[in-house]
Amino acid sequence: MKEYEVECIRCGARYSKADVVYTCRKCGGLLDIKYDYSEVDVERIVKAQGEGVWKYRELLPFDDGTKPITIHEGNTPLYRCDRLAKAIGVADLWVKHEGLNPSGSFKDRGMTVGVTKAVELSVKGVACASTGNTSASLAIFAAKAGFPCYVLLPKGKVALGKVAQAMMHGAQVFSLRGNFDDALRVVRVLCEEESLYLLNSVNPYRLEGQKTIAFEVAEKLGWEAPYRLILPVGNAGNISAIFKGFLELKTLGITDAIPRMTGIQAAGAKPIVNAFKEDKAEITPEEKPETIASAIRIGNPVNAAKALVAIRESGGVAESVTDEEITKAQLELARLEGVGVEPASAASIAGLKKLVEMGAIERDERIVCITTGHLLKDPERVIEICEPPKEVEADVNMLRKMLK
Ligand SMILES: *Cc1c(COP(=O)(O)O)cnc(C)c1O
Ligand SMILES: [Zn+2]
Repeated sequence: MKEYEVECIRCGARYSKADVVYTCRKCGGLLDIKYDYSEVDVERIVKAQGEGVWKYRELLPFDDGTKPITIHEGNTPLYRCDRLAKAIGVADLWVKHEGLNPSGSFKDRGMTVGVTKAVELSVKGVACASTGNTSASLAIFAAKAGFPCYVLLPKGKVALGKVAQAMMHGAQVFSLRGNFDDALRVVRVLCEEESLYLLNSVNPYRLEGQKTIAFEVAEKLGWEAPYRLILPVGNAGNISAIFKGFLELKTLGITDAIPRMTGIQAAGAKPIVNAFKEDKAEITPEEKPETIASAIRIGNPVNAAKALVAIRESGGVAESVTDEEITKAQLELARLEGVGVEPASAASIAGLKKLVEMGAIERDERIVCITTGHLLKDPERVIEICEPPKEVEADVNMLRKMLK
């Protein structure tokens, strides 16, 4: 069995795996799960049977005997997208559609690991702040595990499908007067004081689940890393997790490169893009983040420190896109490739287009875009941007005249 510890990325302080800790008690830094890679069995990764997140349990922080809380998350398709590639002017474009996870977003990958850890730690309940998808996913896994579940959503700011899921699966849902950053601040204190287990992406175990996106991408490409990986960035957990996944594959000699991690934010919520462009180690939080892409409407990304390392060390970039560019990309992806995604996810495609036009991406690179959430998460936005259905008499001649 491989061993692991929980380590502060800033001061190196270590915590035992029985500790319930989210950020360093000494310096406030982010935590990371550290393995002894010399004990990892590479064969058990590259020859693993089964599918989804738990297929890669050799690189997950559990004993072999652990019984996962699972709803068959992961194993999402990696589509080759030649029609979209042609429209954008690139040669080798792939889209990994994380919207096809059971709850409709990649959050399930983190939650299966996080909630399985919650069972191991015998916590009395789970909680999160959320722009929507985290709450939807947590509600499902909490139901499966039999935990009470508390979620804090910023009032009036959450897409309809996501709230519906959290309610249906039995979470106690609070509509908080404030934005996501306020909700996270409040729930962190609540968890501390009420001994609830916090399952936002500051929890390092969640990122362990999400790093399996890297494993699946590499495996589908014949255990090779793509040249570039592009994804939307909100709290910045996912970009950090995927970078770690690729780093592990390289460390273990399974792949020989790391993709250029390319993070896309919305123009109205881009603290990481600003820090990247200004060459700063830390972000300046934005007080009033605003974008139609609610899943990345975040002014104070918790995992910024990890994300900036991921982008810089991999030779990637950070760029922002407008709501208009996001909407255009969302429609294009839906109509050229049949891939239906929520607005935040389309930021990856919009960012690709922009970076190609700027000359920051070469046209012959092998590019993988991650689309993070499903179209049906945000039906209200679809109604706003598409032509509504036309009413017609039950008469074929009248119908024929109306065909475009
Ligand atoms: C959570 C989420 C994001 C942002 O991911 P981070 O890890 O917070 O950067 C992007 N898109 C969708 C659909 C999400 O649910
Ligand atoms: Zn520390």
